[in-house]
Amino acid sequence: MESFPVSDPSAATAAVVTALRPHIRSMKGYIPGEQRNAPDVLKLNTNENPYPPSPRVFAALREALTADRLRKYPPPLGDEFRRVAARLYGLEPECFLIGNGSDDLLTILTRAFVPPGGYLAAPMPGYLLYRTLADIQGAVFVPVPFTPDWQLPEPWPVPQAHLTFLANPNSPSGTMVAPAAIRRLAETLAPAPLVLDEAYADFADWNGLSLFHQLPNLIITRSMSKSYSLAGIRFGFAIARPELIRELVKVKDSYNCDILSQTAAVAALEDQDYFQQVRARICATRQRLAEALTRLGFQVTPSQANFVWCRRSDRPVRPIADELARRNILVRYMNYDGYDGLRISIGTEAETDRLLDALQSILAGCSS
Ligand SMILES: *Cc1c(COP(=O)(O)O)cnc(C)c1O
Repeated sequence: MESFPVSDPSAATAAVVTALRPHIRSMKGYIPGEQRNAPDVLKLNTNENPYPPSPRVFAALREALTADRLRKYPPPLGDEFRRVAARLYGLEPECFLIGNGSDDLLTILTRAFVPPGGYLAAPMPGYLLYRTLADIQGAVFVPVPFTPDWQLPEPWPVPQAHLTFLANPNSPSGTMVAPAAIRRLAETLAPAPLVLDEAYADFADWNGLSLFHQLPNLIITRSMSKSYSLAGIRFGFAIARPELIRELVKVKDSYNCDILSQTAAVAALEDQDYFQQVRARICATRQRLAEALTRLGFQVTPSQANFVWCRRSDRPVRPIADELARRNILVRYMNYDGYDGLRISIGTEAETDRLLDALQSILAGCSS
């Protein structure tokens, strides 16, 4: 086959790169947690669920593997998922927007609400993807520091933001902002929306659904990745007024959730007994891990999520994370302009024992 003559291919490629929009070239990009998937690696760095999905998910997926289902496009709005979710949450099916993971919904919301040069705000330390979404949009990201006890500053300093994200529970802290403060913030921002990113709400004592009816500018996003053990499947959803959902549908890819992810999400959501069992186990292990880490000399922030945030005042924590990694245990070292700590996902009981044994040996100064 004949190829087009290009005298200097690398210079030609470099020229194409300069054709990119400047704000894309200058942005850093989001860096996901390490995915090292050898069998002996204990992954406690990306808040995956250590338990398998409901057995009903496997059965439903096997049933979905027919030529016809694979050959045809999936339902664009996830009709069956919407029906099941509406029944579970006591809302209209039209209140739900499906997404390819909840990150997809955060992208859709940013594209829909934030103009180039506009403002996207979020409290920090928090989920780092929010900044990336603002960068891609050519918008200004405005980080707002949490108070030292992980609450919102009042008055809120960015009332003019086009979109505001609040992860509740927050990552990396696992802490929550109380309903009264959320209501005050939503009222301050109106008519611009407040997005409650509830990726971890299933592990918490309460969630923002109780506020949904009172606050028309409240949008809630949920993820099936963590509490339903479906991070590999990619499914999340947003909850908002039908009038808003109708507009957001215009922004999403027509078929943003494939037939297998929709099938798995429906089956997982329908098995609430299984979900409650997994949730209870993770919350019990969270309590045990927090107490054990405290005994080992960590300052542990009380968590409402499936991870804990811990720090030390007597020694740096980065070498501890590195030493754990050497022993095939991954935790997430995070550093926010000098404020650093370890975010450790909740594993099974046995995995937690392995982590604690390793930490004990590392802190005792042994090197293997
Ligand atoms: C994990 C996470 C998400 C994204 O979840 P996916 O549904 O897997 O895309 C969103 N927000 C926060 C705060 C998260 O930690």
